[in-house]
Amino acid sequence: MCMDCIFCKIANGESPAETVAEDADVKVIKDIHPKAPVHLLVIPKRHIESVAHLEADSGDVIAKLIYAAKHIATEQGLRGYKLVFNVGREGGQMIDHLHLHLLGGWERPEDRKKGFSI
Ligand code: 5GP
Ligand code: ZN
Repeated sequence: MCMDCIFCKIANGESPAETVAEDADVKVIKDIHPKAPVHLLVIPKRHIESVAHLEADSGDVIAKLIYAAKHIATEQGLRGYKLVFNVGREGGQMIDHLHLHLLGGWERPEDRKKGFSI
């Protein structure tokens, strides 16, 4: 755990977040500033800064994030979606704790009028 990391605090329940799903390794939360009708963040509970900081011994963390995203997308009835890792400031990463963006819901008529685009 990294003391000043907001996603570590959310992952261990110290800071609040709208949690959609959780298991021993991963937490799925709603993004506080959604850029799509459905915008979730899939966060590993262990602190890893970014994809650029993955090591050979980082284990199957990426597979777990992608599998969790797939599971939640199916559960939420999304027919298609985007999975995005921002890597580093130049890649748009603002929070230095690995996370996978799950974006979707554009096909839903009730969401289409919200006018999100990416
Ligand atoms: P990044 O730009 O690092 O890839 O994405 C960080 C995402 O986290 C952004 O989409 C931003 O809206 C979201 N975010 C930042 N702070 C918080 C927070 O405290 N709670 C939640 N739920 N989302 C956050
Ligand atoms: Zn962290």
